[in-house]
Amino acid sequence: PEESPEGGNRPAPGLPLPAEGTPGIRFEKVVKRFGGNVVLRELDFQVAPGERVTLIGPSGSGKTTILRLLMTLEKVDGGVIWIGDRPLSHMPRGDRLVPAGERHLHEMRKQVGMVFQQFNLFPNMNVLRNLTEAPVRVLGLSREEAVERARRLLDMVGLADKIDAHPSQLSGGQQQRVAIARALAMEPKVLLLDEVTSALDPELVVGVQDLLRDIARGSDLTMLCVTHEMHFARDISDRVLMFDEGQIVEEGPPERIFEAPTEQRTRDFLQAIL
Ligand code: ADP
Repeated sequence: PEESPEGGNRPAPGLPLPAEGTPGIRFEKVVKRFGGNVVLRELDFQVAPGERVTLIGPSGSGKTTILRLLMTLEKVDGGVIWIGDRPLSHMPRGDRLVPAGERHLHEMRKQVGMVFQQFNLFPNMNVLRNLTEAPVRVLGLSREEAVERARRLLDMVGLADKIDAHPSQLSGGQQQRVAIARALAMEPKVLLLDEVTSALDPELVVGVQDLLRDIARGSDLTMLCVTHEMHFARDISDRVLMFDEGQIVEEGPPERIFEAPTEQRTRDFLQAIL
């Protein structure tokens, strides 16, 4: 996609125009190391506003690290991540970017929601509290507004009757639906999905995937998804990035990547997982 003067980006041709205010994501020469292990080496890529992108690639190639950086659960060692026209963990000072303070991080975090492989619900809170806690504390919603929002979302994910349940009383699929509702309760602009069905019993996978597909198609969220499930990747994404050793090997629409990959590493990877 072409860059706009504001430093954001425009959707690729053919994508629906997102509602005003939906930011894209841009990695600019991002470096991430763990000790001597350089996981991302000056990585550049972008996701247009409202675009849905899936990252595929071998285990250990850096996909989860990308999502964790976007959640500010990890810090970059070089380069800049942009959410729309704002740097995620930097602030402009004069003509330079300097590491951002807590206040800026707090503002930026509100824009990004994530659904994890292991659900990560608060085990000591019931479903309603899981959904209302952050909207009240972080967004400053009144309790009534938060409860009303939680009810609407639980309805959408088909769990209105579980509002008082504790996570331990729910199946994995139900817990993941609650986790999806919890992420959406923050009304993020960017939604990150990290292997969201890989901890589920096989019979529960499709229901959760269908829910996410409907959310993806029915919203203007910018989405970045990591998955090994190729039919899900096809369902949910406008574009697939094949990733290996911290670099993009190949990218394109899902049909092209899955049916006619041009790179040997993509072919090997797809063969290994299918
Ligand atoms: P993927 O999601 O593609 O499987 P990850 O992003 O989880 O890959 O991991 C990429 C590399 O970074 C791996 O070599 C992994 O061991 C390393 N790594 C990830 N998180 C940490 C961490 N917290 N401490 C040390 N090494 C890590």
